[in-house]
Amino acid sequence: MAALAAGVHPCADAKGRPLDPRRAALAGQPLTADHLCGAWVEMRGNWEFLRDALALRSHFGSSNVCHLCRATKGGELDFTADFSRGAATRATLLQDAADAPAGANAPAGANAPAGASPLYKIPGFSLWRCMFDLMHTLELGLLQRIVPATLEPFLKPGRGLGGPFAGTTIQARSHAATQAYVGFCHRNGIYPRVKAITSQWVTPQKPGAALQLSQSHAKAAALRRMLPWLCELTAVHAEVSDEARLRATLLRELHAMDVVWDKAPRFLTSEQAAAAAGHCELALDALRQLAAGWPGRWKLPPKAHALTHIACDSILGNPRVAHCYQDEDFVGRAKRIWAGCHGLTAQRRVQQRYALLTALRLSARYEVKLGIRRTRGPVRARVHAPSGAETQDAASGAGAADPAGRRAKRRRGQ
Ligand SMILES: [Zn+2]
Repeated sequence: MAALAAGVHPCADAKGRPLDPRRAALAGQPLTADHLCGAWVEMRGNWEFLRDALALRSHFGSSNVCHLCRATKGGELDFTADFSRGAATRATLLQDAADAPAGANAPAGANAPAGASPLYKIPGFSLWRCMFDLMHTLELGLLQRIVPATLEPFLKPGRGLGGPFAGTTIQARSHAATQAYVGFCHRNGIYPRVKAITSQWVTPQKPGAALQLSQSHAKAAALRRMLPWLCELTAVHAEVSDEARLRATLLRELHAMDVVWDKAPRFLTSEQAAAAAGHCELALDALRQLAAGWPGRWKLPPKAHALTHIACDSILGNPRVAHCYQDEDFVGRAKRIWAGCHGLTAQRRVQQRYALLTALRLSARYEVKLGIRRTRGPVRARVHAPSGAETQDAASGAGAADPAGRRAKRRRGQ
């Protein structure tokens, strides 16, 4: 990264060791003929990844929960006490994070990283550009708890609301809820990503444990796409109780926040940023009241605090544009290619085939730019493996080891 920032070939490798003669001969020469440089822009990911990669001392598992401010679990700066933009924790934001780990401006105490991660040596590094990923924070953090807590009173017989979903058992009500959700999606032109709401959604994994969905119940995008339906469902029943009113507020504001980001371009205007921060503030305040009043059903995890930083401090733009969905998709694509390869050659074949797929996609985009093609996808080509014995549908990642019937099924989208 240092060589990229300087725009010249390095004199040594990342650990300071001499390079091989071929690369050593290039040392000090420009990387490109037109003297282009590269710049590190940001690092975005799951909180656990940030903790490990940056050797953070302050994280979700410690008493000081955040590497961007001095929020704590309990005490005067308790992260659960206030989610407004005027909260006391907002006055403790890290001020100078450009060279936090080693420089003279390194913040004292909890914000100082515990170890020496080499990432801090990247030219232009800033902790403020190491941001929580929205997908891992909202969908796979908060919504995995909020969605089952919202549905529980509707699905469990004898839990008060009963109401919209007919049936005397959880299974019957879950089936009715699925039909209602699919019907809502069809009426509103939404692809129903959730195939079935089941009784497992409102059954804790252990007796007494809080309700929490996993990705085997619903993927991140599926949970997000449920927000409009849950908004409508909870709004209709908002007057039943104080909990129902707060629940409707929570869903309404989360959905409104998501709509702001969804409709905004890559970089938010100040009005859009303020609107998203306002919706986030109201949503998390409702969640705070729910967790305080009904702790058996509603939880307030540290990711609620992380969401405040996404909504209020995303200095690099729209968090719905820069997110980890594509990275997660990459893992899925690599896995599918792997499944189609022979076990002995899988490591090499996966890299070869992914490189081919990437090249096809990039060339398609380039051809669109040149006007040779109208659209950039899908790109499909038969790629022959070096042995000649294997063929590969590069766009789908289906390998020759797949039976023909399975490949045909995949093409039909089954
Ligand atoms: Zn913080």
